[in-house]
Amino acid sequence: MSVLLLTHPDCLAHDMGEGHPECPDRLRAVLRALEAEEFADLLRDRPEEAAREHLIRVHPPDYVEAILGIRPAPGEMVALDADTVMNHASARAALLAAGAAVRAVDEVCGGQARRAFCATRPPGHHAERRRPMGFCLFSNAVVAARHAQAAHGLARVAICDFDVHHGNGSQDCAQDDPSILFCSSHQMPLYPGTGAAEERGAGNIFNAPLPPGADGAAFRAAWRDALLPALDAFAPELLVISAGFDAHARDPLAQLRVTEADFAWLTDRLCEVAERHARGRVVSLLEGGYDLPALASSAAAHVRSLMRA
Ligand SMILES: [Zn+2]
Repeated sequence: MSVLLLTHPDCLAHDMGEGHPECPDRLRAVLRALEAEEFADLLRDRPEEAAREHLIRVHPPDYVEAILGIRPAPGEMVALDADTVMNHASARAALLAAGAAVRAVDEVCGGQARRAFCATRPPGHHAERRRPMGFCLFSNAVVAARHAQAAHGLARVAICDFDVHHGNGSQDCAQDDPSILFCSSHQMPLYPGTGAAEERGAGNIFNAPLPPGADGAAFRAAWRDALLPALDAFAPELLVISAGFDAHARDPLAQLRVTEADFAWLTDRLCEVAERHARGRVVSLLEGGYDLPALASSAAAHVRSLMRA
């Protein structure tokens, strides 16, 4: 059974302005890397927009309508906070990113694909229940988890977040819900400032902060010693990965020293957990990563691992 790549050209039209690090070229770089011959066996398709019912499992209806009501004229922009901006295409791109997460869950839980990677933007892991934040509008990972539970009857879903920034939004959306486990490695101190090991939610939150300068060995140790055991004990029936590649040594927004080989190592370990507990089911969602060559090669290493396992 194959690995599904979901992406949509309309995710490229979401643009937060000249010089913004979360730019359309990020997605172009990832997609170009996945055009290589070694990825010829990927199933490829376009997602549809998420429906309101998918989003209101996570966000209050008035929040969803407020975000979707922001439709500036072409050429104009609306700033939601210091670094989160919407243009005329942002609402549709956000619906497609969340819709890709939903579709990936349907394909993987329905048995049509073994794993799925959603190459979409905007990312989602900073979006809280009631607040857009950090380039994110909707909590794509928690939308995926709740859809797996509501539409496919899964009891336990894990969200594994290796983006260099703490997934405060995913944590906010899931922290009262012990049917979802959230585990995250991230640099601390760093934006958004949350993610201390003491933040445990309903006992379902596992944070492994890493100091600036931490290398791949420290990154692997955090997962091997703290996060993977928690994941195994939870025995998830689906793994959702928040795949941000900004822990890479070349990334301009953080100071970790992770490499492509480390991202591949962790992807292999996460696929092993999925094999043990979740019939192999993995849904991976693109989050951050701001050095374009490092992002492209890291995403390729990640997808290569998803295809190998
Ligand atoms: Zn990030």
